[in-house]
Amino acid sequence: MPTTSEQLRPWLDRVLANHESWAAEFGEFTRHDSLALKDSEVAAALDELADRLRDNYPFFHPRYAGQMLKPPHPVAIAGYAAAMLINPNNHALDGGPATAKMEREVVAQLATMFGYGDHLGHLTSSGTIANLEALYVAREIHPDSGVAYSVDSHYTHSRMCKLIGVAGHAVPVDATGKMDLDALESLLRSGKVGTVVVTAGTTGLGVVDPVHEVVALRSRYDFRIHVDAAYGGFFSLIAGTEGIDPVPWQAIRHCDSIVVDPHKHGLQPYGCGAVLFADPAVGRFYVHDSPYTYFTSDELHLGEISLECSRAGAGAAALWLTLKLLPLRADGLGAVLAAGRRAAVRWHELIDQSDRLVPYQRPELDIVTYFPAEPTLSAIDAGSERMMREGMGDRDDPVFLSTLRAGAEAFGARGIAAVADVDGARVLRSVLMKPESEDYLDRLHDRVVSLAG
Ligand SMILES: *Cc1c(COP(=O)(O)O)cnc(C)c1O
Repeated sequence: MPTTSEQLRPWLDRVLANHESWAAEFGEFTRHDSLALKDSEVAAALDELADRLRDNYPFFHPRYAGQMLKPPHPVAIAGYAAAMLINPNNHALDGGPATAKMEREVVAQLATMFGYGDHLGHLTSSGTIANLEALYVAREIHPDSGVAYSVDSHYTHSRMCKLIGVAGHAVPVDATGKMDLDALESLLRSGKVGTVVVTAGTTGLGVVDPVHEVVALRSRYDFRIHVDAAYGGFFSLIAGTEGIDPVPWQAIRHCDSIVVDPHKHGLQPYGCGAVLFADPAVGRFYVHDSPYTYFTSDELHLGEISLECSRAGAGAAALWLTLKLLPLRADGLGAVLAAGRRAAVRWHELIDQSDRLVPYQRPELDIVTYFPAEPTLSAIDAGSERMMREGMGDRDDPVFLSTLRAGAEAFGARGIAAVADVDGARVLRSVLMKPESEDYLDRLHDRVVSLAG
């Protein structure tokens, strides 16, 4: 495989050539001197920028096995650049008809991936905003009831409930980090809850809530279900393979709204979340009357179904191009997720066999959690922190990990026998979201074992 720059250089050349020929159709004009720059000054500033950007972790490299971070696919960069040269605004059709159409197409592809037929949806600048939109619509439908989400759901749900002025209810989780159904049911019985947020892939452990069982509770209680699949959503492409239980994924189609982040597992640059609604009629909750936009079409514009105003049309172009080449199928984008998933499963096995590392929890998707074999929680905490710090600090053979804090009861629930001399400990957490991690795994494992001492 060629490197990112080897791939991107000819693609960007083509993008620039295509742009030039389009621009030439509009005839000559004089560029203004105020925008002129001296090549030598730009070169120096670019070098200074590169220097400043050195202060980053190498998210692209399999040595980086920490947070949910990786660069976009080069083809997404090419797609983004092609549209950015025009800079359409997907708020309204007159801001960019071409990218607004692409946005509808990619949103329809995302909807199909989850099993939605009819739908309403749009891209957003992030998963947080996409979740906010889903909760906003939920509040309009159940204005006097609260929202339930598990204690392991994304922290922004409780914040967004405060923002929209509805009560948030944190539901406990079971021994594997899934929403506790008995606790949820007693909350539903109380009549306080109008919407349940289930998470398909928690941010910390990558755990999938029992979506199907929450769906089943609707035969007894009246509530909406929102699926937060910001991180995990694209795993629905490979559910039922690679040891991923398909049942919760198949139930997502019966839920009222879904959030997925193409800027996490969809190979996109930041600024690309998505919200989908099963009932297109929820568009009525967005209706507003702006005096200065929407003058080219009678259709429902993207700006009429989103809380945000300006959004980069380039984001839609990047996703459109990416999905054209790596479609939403098991043998398209799914193959990227499957490799990370296999790496996570195999690493868990290696850790399980190691006498210096202990698994915290078996990975359900591609997040591996583990800690150094120590007798007490305080020693586990100190050891995890030290391994992360020493791994990052090693100039010759660095490895980049992240940590996750777990309470003493969570260790107990997982049958981990460490002495609870403190109320919790950090464990190490690695999101293996790059397919290259599969090939690199033995080196990664050996390096992490050596850090464990
Ligand atoms: C990342 C994440 C979010 C927040 O999405 P952003 O795009 O970072 O705003 C919400 N929910 C889950 C489950 C996530 O993993």
